[in-house]
Amino acid sequence: MARYLGSVCKLCRREGTKLMLKGARCMTSKCSFERRSYVPGQHGTSHARKKVTDYGIHLREKQKARRIYGVLERQFKKYFEIADKKSGETGENLLVLLERRLDNVVYRMGFAPSRNSARQIIRHGHIKVDGKKVNIPSFLVKPNQQIEIKENSRSMELIQDALQNSMDSSHYDWLSVDRSNFRGEFLYTPNREQLEIDINANLIVEFYSK
Ligand code: SF4
Repeated sequence: MARYLGSVCKLCRREGTKLMLKGARCMTSKCSFERRSYVPGQHGTSHARKKVTDYGIHLREKQKARRIYGVLERQFKKYFEIADKKSGETGENLLVLLERRLDNVVYRMGFAPSRNSARQIIRHGHIKVDGKKVNIPSFLVKPNQQIEIKENSRSMELIQDALQNSMDSSHYDWLSVDRSNFRGEFLYTPNREQLEIDINANLIVEFYSK
């Protein structure tokens, strides 16, 4: 399946919530969801937020999570299957797996303005994990692994701007970030309570269990 190449702001309007896909812009009055929160399309205003079926509620939650983390359908289902096989709660396991993705960790550390930009930076070979180049955005980061921007990539405008404008990562207890040295450590795997993310993972579990 092809990656979505349309306006990411439309995805926020589709899901009826701010998915924070454009980094710092999402926090400003330029956010298009602030100005037009209705469903995109010709009939957006007239048919906005019509009654959603039970199936629709479950589907939308799954789509919301998928879009926040920028994961394709097939890959998202694979994460669910892995999460389901692990001990513990499937929903929590799923969210934790998504959090461990390298693109998410790079974004959370403030080295990229959005997960989408983090994916680009990783694919272009600007990131090292434990001293070795990793160019796979879905790489799952393990506790105590060190993430670092390659030395000759540190002056890139995208990275410099991200470091200036991104949210402070210090409230993510499981991450330790040394912005002045362009590196950070994934200290431990967070639990559900620590992940301040507006996703009802139980709805996603029910979606796949039907
Ligand atoms: Fe969503 Fe950010 Fe666009 Fe606002 S600016 S609609 S939060 S992607």
